[in-house]
Amino acid sequence: MSKLLTHARPPLSELTEQERMFQGAVRDFAAAEIAPKIREMDEAAQMDPALIDQLFEMGLMAVEIPEEHGGTGADFFTSVLVVEELSKVDPSIAVLVDVQNTLVINAFLRWGNDDQQSRYLPRLASDTVGAYALSEAGSGSDAFALACRATQDGDDWILNGHKLWITNGNEAGMFIVFATMDPSAGYKGITAFIVEKNFEGFSVGKKEDKLGIRASSTTELLFENVRIPAANVFGEVGKGYKAAIETLNEGRIGIGAQMIGLAQGALDHTVRYVQEREQFGRAIGSFQGVQFQLAEMATDIEAARLLVYNAARLKDAGQPFVKQAAMAKLFASESAQRVASICIDLHGGYGFTKEYPVEKLYRDAKIGTIYEGTSNMQKQTIAKALMR
Ligand SMILES: Cc1cc2nc3c(=O)[nH]c(=O)nc-3n(C[C@H](O)[C@H](O)[C@H](O)COP(=O)(O)OP(=O)(O)OC[C@H]3O[C@@H](n4cnc5c(N)ncnc54)[C@H](O)[C@@H]3O)c2cc1C
Repeated sequence: MSKLLTHARPPLSELTEQERMFQGAVRDFAAAEIAPKIREMDEAAQMDPALIDQLFEMGLMAVEIPEEHGGTGADFFTSVLVVEELSKVDPSIAVLVDVQNTLVINAFLRWGNDDQQSRYLPRLASDTVGAYALSEAGSGSDAFALACRATQDGDDWILNGHKLWITNGNEAGMFIVFATMDPSAGYKGITAFIVEKNFEGFSVGKKEDKLGIRASSTTELLFENVRIPAANVFGEVGKGYKAAIETLNEGRIGIGAQMIGLAQGALDHTVRYVQEREQFGRAIGSFQGVQFQLAEMATDIEAARLLVYNAARLKDAGQPFVKQAAMAKLFASESAQRVASICIDLHGGYGFTKEYPVEKLYRDAKIGTIYEGTSNMQKQTIAKALMR
């Protein structure tokens, strides 16, 4: 009995040596290469293409792709660690990496057939950014009210319509696109397709001018009689909704990771600042009122991290994780907003300026409660799981 009780299960936040090394390499890269470019990329709303090349070189754009296809061959949890680490420095770069790994590659590994995996995974591992195109002007939270239309023409398919809000739109070379064969069929009419940037009739439209994660491109996609070969139907015809739901269930763990990284980054800057800034003849960090604010933020982040890590580990273990993923995304994104806001307060007037990094992290935090399902949608998923 005592043996049973003491049987050691690793703590949720314990990392293997390999995970720690990977995390350390990402941390060093982010500090040396990304940090000096953040301000310029944010102001220009433009990601430095040289950084994307470096992300590929480091294997960060192919974390879960098996080595035989040129990837890093790690697990989903490692993708989460990468996204968390990058987000401490720049959540814009992190979301590029997040979409590539937790949505696009994840979808390929799960739903792509052998031919699609061998054609696209080596490209995704070496030089091709991917994007995941579900949302439309009239279809956001109601994700399957799609108007983008797919019609069959012989063995091929023809796509017509618009997508909106697509992350990596400007950088991507390939897109997973969801379209309906019949809007009256609801979710059962939806099929997913692999679209390449150079397919005739496809173009990238307007780029959004955003509050936060400004260096990450968010664009419209336009489809005008785009011919898709049958070999690029992704998963089964009429089962696109299943691929969309299941990929997003996993992807939102990545957004949770983005939010814990962001919050940790903001807190780290703030802990430094309160030890330097003096008022009333002493460092403001020596006041108990300030210390209590730091303690509450650290506790929020730790709780969010445990939720995110647990959801990721459940997924890797092949166990149910949908409720936990929704909770992780909900709590991590709401708490990141609270944390980033208090970090601004603790920087006083400087917090409200671009002189310190917390101003940008505060703006970046806002997206967490919106994309990959708003907070209300996460609550709906959690409540549904409770009442099953
Ligand atoms: C920066 C950015 C990047 C994005 N990247 C991508 C991407 O790469 N790919 C992609 O496909 N999409 C992407 N999106 C789209 C994103 O997923 C949607 O914006 C999001 O799902 C919300 O949809 P919506 O904007 O249409 O808002 P709406 O669905 O119109 O929601 C507006 C408000 O109404 C609430 N609401 C709606 N329905 C209900 C309900 N039934 N009960 C309670 N409240 C409700 C919502 O919670 C929200 O507060 C991105 C969006 C942004 C802003």
